[in-house]
Parts: sequence; C-alpha cells; structure tokens
Amino acid sequence: MVGVLSGTIPASNQTAARMLRSIFGPIYRQLSVSDGNPDLLKAQFGVFSSQVPLMYSIVLINAWALAMNFVTVAPAWLAIHVPIGFTLICGVRLLSWWRARHTAPTPEAARKALRQTNLFAFVLSVMLTGWALALFPYGNAYLQGNIAFFIGITGLGVIICLQQLPSAAFIAAIAINAGFVTWFSLTGVAAFAGMAVNLALVSIALLMVVTVQFRYFAGAVSARRKLETVSQENLRLANLDSLTGLPNRRQFFAHLDEMFAANGERRLAVGILDLDGFKPVNDLYGHKVGDSLLVEVGKRLAALTEDNTHIARLGGDEFALTVADCPGNEDLLALGERICAALRDPFVLAEANVQISGSIGFAVYPEMADSAHDLYERADYALYQGKRSNRGHAALFANSHVVEIEKDKRIEHALVQADLEQEIEVHFQPIVDIRTGRTIAFEALARWTSPVLGNVPPGQFIPVAERTGLIGPMTRVLLRKALASASRWPDDVGLSFNLSTHDISTSEGAVAIVANILGSGVDPRRLDFEITETAMMYDFAQAKIAIDMLKALGCGIALDDFGTGYSSLSQLHALPLTKIKIDRSFVTDLNKNPASFKIVKSLLALSSDMGLSCVIEGVETEEEMAVLRTLGGELVQGYFYSRPMPEIDVAGFLRQPVEAQAAG
Ligand code: C2E
Ligand code: CA
Ligand code: CA
Repeated sequence: MVGVLSGTIPASNQTAARMLRSIFGPIYRQLSVSDGNPDLLKAQFGVFSSQVPLMYSIVLINAWALAMNFVTVAPAWLAIHVPIGFTLICGVRLLSWWRARHTAPTPEAARKALRQTNLFAFVLSVMLTGWALALFPYGNAYLQGNIAFFIGITGLGVIICLQQLPSAAFIAAIAINAGFVTWFSLTGVAAFAGMAVNLALVSIALLMVVTVQFRYFAGAVSARRKLETVSQENLRLANLDSLTGLPNRRQFFAHLDEMFAANGERRLAVGILDLDGFKPVNDLYGHKVGDSLLVEVGKRLAALTEDNTHIARLGGDEFALTVADCPGNEDLLALGERICAALRDPFVLAEANVQISGSIGFAVYPEMADSAHDLYERADYALYQGKRSNRGHAALFANSHVVEIEKDKRIEHALVQADLEQEIEVHFQPIVDIRTGRTIAFEALARWTSPVLGNVPPGQFIPVAERTGLIGPMTRVLLRKALASASRWPDDVGLSFNLSTHDISTSEGAVAIVANILGSGVDPRRLDFEITETAMMYDFAQAKIAIDMLKALGCGIALDDFGTGYSSLSQLHALPLTKIKIDRSFVTDLNKNPASFKIVKSLLALSSDMGLSCVIEGVETEEEMAVLRTLGGELVQGYFYSRPMPEIDVAGFLRQPVEAQAAG
C-alpha cells in the first residue's frame, strides 16, 4: 500500500513531504502525548493528578484577583460572569481528576486523560489570555500592567504545574505567549514590549528546564520499572527450586502458612515424600544422573497433582505437598498410593534406567494437628514411621503416634543424660547350625536399663540414638563390651554385631570400629557385621568404603532383615556380602502361610545362587523348624533355640548338649 502510494506521488512532492515531516514531526511529537511507554503514562497520570488542584488554584485565585480590580471599570459580564464560567469549568475538571486520584488507570485510560489535558491546556490558555486581554481597554496604565503580570505569572505557574506533561506545558506556553507577545508588541508601549520579550524568554528557559526535568522523570520511571522487574524475578527465583522448577522449601512453608491462615474449618493435609534408593543412584551413576532423576520425579509429581494440591521440593530427595479441601482419609491415602506407584515405575534416563520408590507421610488439619508447624511435623513423623513399617507406601499420622512422639521425647531426654558405660549392656542370641545343632555364633543385641525409664527395648532407643547422633558413642561402648565377651568364648564361636547407618556413613565411625576390633585381640575372622539395606541407602559410596575396610580385615558382612528393603539386586551385588539374614516377618507362621513359604524358599535359593550363607531369623516353633528343614535351611536364630541372654549365661548355654539346646 505504501509502495503503491509512494509510486504515484511525484518525486518533488515526496521531498517536500519529507521536509515537512522533518520540520513538523518533532514539533508534533513535542505537542502530543507519547504513545510508547505505558509505565511512563501511568506515572505521568499519577503525578499530574496530584498537581491538578494546585494548578487550578493558581489559575482561579489569579483570575479572581484580576477580576476584582476590574469590577468597577469593566462590564459585569466580563469582570464577573466570565470568571464564574472559568470557576465552573475548572471545578468540573478538578472534580474529575479528584475522583481519579486513587485509581490505577490502564495505560490506555491514562493516555486518553492526558490527551484531554493537552486539549484543555490549549483551550484554557487561549480563554484566559483572551479574557485578560479583553479587559485591557477598560483599565488605566496600572490595571493594564496588572493584566500583563496576571498573564505572565499565571502562565509560568501553569507551565511549572504541567512539568510532568511537557506536551501540555508547551501548548500552554505557546498559546499564552502568542497572545501576549502579539498584543503587547502592538500596543506600541516600550515597557509592555519589553515585558513581552521578557515573558517569552523566561517561558523558553522554563520549557527547557521542564524538558530536562521530564527526561529525569522518565529515566526514574524506567529505572523503577527495571528494579521492580529485577526484584520480581529475584523473588520468583528465591521461591523456586532451580533444578526441578517446583516451588522450593521457603515457598512451601510460606504457602502452608498462607493456606492455614485462610483455611478456616476446612480440612487441610500436608504430605511429606521421601525417595527410597535415591542416594545409591546418585553414588553409583553420579550427580548428573541423580539430578535428571530428580527432575523426572518432579515432573511425575506435578503431573499427578490437581488444582487443590501444591507440590514443592524441600531439598535433596525430599518433596512436600499440601492438599486444600482435603478429601476423606481414604481418598488422601489413595492419592498417596498413586504417587508412590508412579515413582515405582522405572525411570528411563539418557544415561541409565533406574528404579526407586518413594514413601509419603500425611497429616490432616484439624483432626491430627492444629497448627501449620504441627501439621508439618506430624506428616514428617508419619513418614518416618511409614518408612520403618511400610516403606514405599503412603502412611497417615495416627493418634497413637502422639503417644509415641511423647515416648520418643522421654527416651531422648533420658538417653542424652545416660551414662552409656553403666547403663548399656549386651545380650547374646545364638545362631545355630541345624544340621549339627552346634552354635556357630551369637548375635549381640543392645540392652539399656535407664535409671529413669527402666528397661527400654532397642527397637525404641536405637532409632532415637540414630536421630540424635548418640549412636556413634553407643556403638563403640557396645562393640567393646561384645568383643570383650567374645574373647572369652571358644575360638569357633563367632560374634555377629549390628551396625547402624551412621556407623558406616562416616569415615571416623568406620575407623573407630576397626580400632576397636584390632584392640580387642579377637580374630576378625570370627566377626560378622550386620547391616540393613536402609543403612546402605544413606550414603552408598561411603558405606561401601567402610564395609570394604571391614571385609579386608577378614570380617564377614551380613545383610540383615533381608526381603524388607527395596534395594535392587545389582546394588547389593556391589557389596562384599558373605551372609544374608531372612527377616522374621517371613518366618512367622511359615507353616501356615503359603506366601511366606514361597518367599523363604526363593530367598534361600537366591542366597545359594549368590554363594552366600543364610541365617533364618525369628524361628519360634517346632512347626516352623520342620518346614525350614524341608526347605534346606541351615542356620537358624530364634526363640526356638534361645532368647537373647546375658553374657553370664553364654558359657552354660554352650556347655549344654546339642539336643538340649534345641529345646530352648
Ligand atoms: P535385629 O537385628 O533384627 O535383631 C533381632 C531381633 O529379633 C532382636 O530384637 C531379637 O531379640 C528378636 N528375636 C530373635 N528371635 C526372635 C523370635 O524368635 N521371636 C521374636 N518375636 N523375636 C525374636 P531386639 O533385641 O529387641 O532388637 C531389635 C532391633 O534393634 C534389632 O533387630 C536391631 O535392629 C536393633 N538392635 C539391637 N541391638 C543393636 C545394636 O547393638 N546396634 C544396632 N545398631 N542395632 C541394634
Ligand atoms: Ca541383626
Ligand atoms: Ca534382623
């Protein structure tokens, strides 16, 4: 279209048009409201609306001051009625700006209002100047001087008030000066001509000041905008997890607090999710694979959540979600199970295919907690309990947990103050070879008699010791005592000792164990160290170093509670295992439960395939024993032979004839 038009216009006309554009373009731009920057328009609108009252006050006070001087000499319509007209018009304008002073207009509305102001600046300037000059013939020299003063001072006042809208300032300045300069030059009075030149010069200077000031104003607006953008971006980034793009820990807690404040009586759930088997993946394949795994986990979680769920990554392999208007507990658990199931599906990453699982703990307001803090803590506790009893699934905080939390607190309190050397001792439970009836080893089991709490079972105090970091010193006391006992047993009776995650996840822990063994005088080949799959999951690489060290000393390594964990066999294969211990849960009612039967059978086959010996734990009855014999079980530990006993009873137990041992 442009091409067609330009083709039809003669070249000389085009040059003229260009010239006109180059002359009038800048003038037009100077006199119109800019189209560009919406932030600037809004800022102009904001500042201008606050200066409008001042401007109209100047105009009206000055106009009435002039009018009063002319009341007696000029006709009433000119000296009274016209100023009343100005007052009304200005009043209406003032009112409309007054109403708009607190509104945040759209850029379009701001532009429209400012354009109207441009127009009005022109109309008002022409009318005021015209009116003042119309009074001129009625006044004497003093009054005429008064008119010149009125036009000059009012014009300058208006220009100053319009400084955030330079286009209107220019329009007003041109309109006022045009009338003033022409009129006063024509009067032929030298003093008036001088005033006209004076006003014109001051107006030009003032317009230059306005232009510079406006440039600063526009600069400040754009700098503020940039600052806002940067701080908004910073705020966004500060609330996002950079790896997965999910909200981060800070955002999660802020969101939880917000939800809690706005929630009222509605049910609100918090879920904490922890991955099982993430650490080994990280250690085995490297951090890059670990990172891509977390990204994929984030995607799966995000895909499963609905409008009322908010999911965040708290850090490491821990995620959290809130569920607003939470459904019934069964639906909540079903959501949890869907998430766990999604995480069990293998992850096909560019570098490797990996399999992990995840456990979730939920707590629900109002029935399980009544503050945001408690909701989080209790969801975390449900997760902790769930991981112990039903790893890889969803668990709900139960009221019985309140009692357990209290009990844990009491245990923790007593444990921190305990004299471990005095209060902790070791009991021993025989591991028997059922083909010969001979006791091949004893498993050392911790016993704590607290002066405050009495006897506390290890199932209760070991987790507390692990959580509070007391397990290190405790293991050292236990191992020293157990080794001291073993040193008094016949050489062909071994000692099996339990290690915790923390014992093998730091090099100091591992070195202390080795030092203990070497200082005991017990042949390391008589020792087995029992570890669980979960102990390996914490820091696989470091745990493997510790285990390799013990293996190098000649100790055996037994995988405890086998069958309850979720490690993949390939990971277990990376460990120098010598033994596995089949968990008691598969042995109980082995004779009645076909599922248990199958599991034990396959675990026995597996251990034999892997060339490992296998201890079957928790055998209590003759019936269970009979089944184990038919399955070809060899090493058995359980109440069937003996409960754990104090050291003093060990010698007597070993002296018993082989057949009598089996009778317990
Ligand atoms: P664990 O290592 O699986 O130990 C076997 C547990 O099963 C012992 O419980 C033992 O008394 C019990 N048990 C053995 N035979 C039977 C049976 O026929 N029936 C039944 N119902 N139970 C049987 P205990 O002594 O209460 O220890 C519980 C857990 O505490 C241990 O499980 C182990 O995980 C931990 N633990 C015990 N002593 C230590 C220790 O010195 N260090 C560490 N790190 N953990 C320990
Ligand atoms: Ca054990
Ligand atoms: Ca066990």
